[in-house]
Amino acid sequence: MIVVMKKGSTQEMVQRMVERVEALGLKAHVIVGTERTVIAAVGEERDGKKESLESYSEVESVLPILAPYKVASLETKREPTVVRVRDLVIGGGHVGVIAGPCSVESEAQILLAAEQVKAAGARGLRGGAFKPRTSPYSFQGMKEEGLKLLAAARDATGLAVVTEVMTPQHVELVAHYADVLQVGARNMQNYHLLQAVGETRLPVLLKRGLSASMEEFLLAAEYVLDQGNQQVILCERGVRSFETHTRFTLPLASVPYLHQKTHLPVVVDPSHGTGIASLVPPMCVASVACGADGLIVEVHPDPHEALSDGSQTLSPDAFAETLARCRKVATALGLTMD
Ligand code: PEP
Ligand code: MN
Repeated sequence: MIVVMKKGSTQEMVQRMVERVEALGLKAHVIVGTERTVIAAVGEERDGKKESLESYSEVESVLPILAPYKVASLETKREPTVVRVRDLVIGGGHVGVIAGPCSVESEAQILLAAEQVKAAGARGLRGGAFKPRTSPYSFQGMKEEGLKLLAAARDATGLAVVTEVMTPQHVELVAHYADVLQVGARNMQNYHLLQAVGETRLPVLLKRGLSASMEEFLLAAEYVLDQGNQQVILCERGVRSFETHTRFTLPLASVPYLHQKTHLPVVVDPSHGTGIASLVPPMCVASVACGADGLIVEVHPDPHEALSDGSQTLSPDAFAETLARCRKVATALGLTMD
């Protein structure tokens, strides 16, 4: 249920309602909007609870939430969630760009990549230190050493660091260095990991599972939100299909679909979504055109030398050219982009 507080309700009134919601055995999530504050009351909705909450004079109305993902639903919060971390802004009419190599490989590589993507307009630096590789024999990432290099690149450039955490045991370590915690496609339904990143107060970039439905995707986001972390960025990164001409199939209709269902911002990853560098620029442009709140793109100082995902990685020049094209589309649509 959504408990809609009357306009002008004070913080004390909201807090008292939270206590009443909790006394009914429900979990309370306070969502402060520009117009009014609502409390999402989630849990077993036995008879009488709605009436009980409705009876308080500071309550305007109590409405059911029909979607299974209660806190993520647009029914709970009409205003788009905007994620801001350092100079990276995702959502609310601003297209934020995260870019960098698939993996952190060396100090020289990540520092150069950070400078190059920043010059092109990115405000977030991606780079995997813990890598989920299909084969156990592939490069697994530089681990903590890689995290330290990402932090050094942030110090040098001011970019927000976005990096993957693969297991609940590593959340504290990765959170110590990162600005945004990435949950990878292969971990979208790792519920313990979702809860662990939900316990932090860092924004979470949640990638869609390789074969996850939209409802499963939103329910995965709900696990993070349910822990009180309201900063979730959804990432469409392509799904497995019968098609083999691309590495994955990138369904861009999920962007406007998600905007009809959730207030959470949606970014697109055309690098993993296509797996082919030449397809990445047009899909970046298309992502902005269909309303994406941001892009996450693999860029390496020399893609031929990349230790992972080189064939889907843009050169710094190609990336700069791509963002210049995206900016034209953004401007035409009344959106802003750095
Ligand atoms: C990545 O971003 O490098 C990555 C491994 O992505 P995904 O989880 O979408 O495959
Ligand atoms: Mn990759």
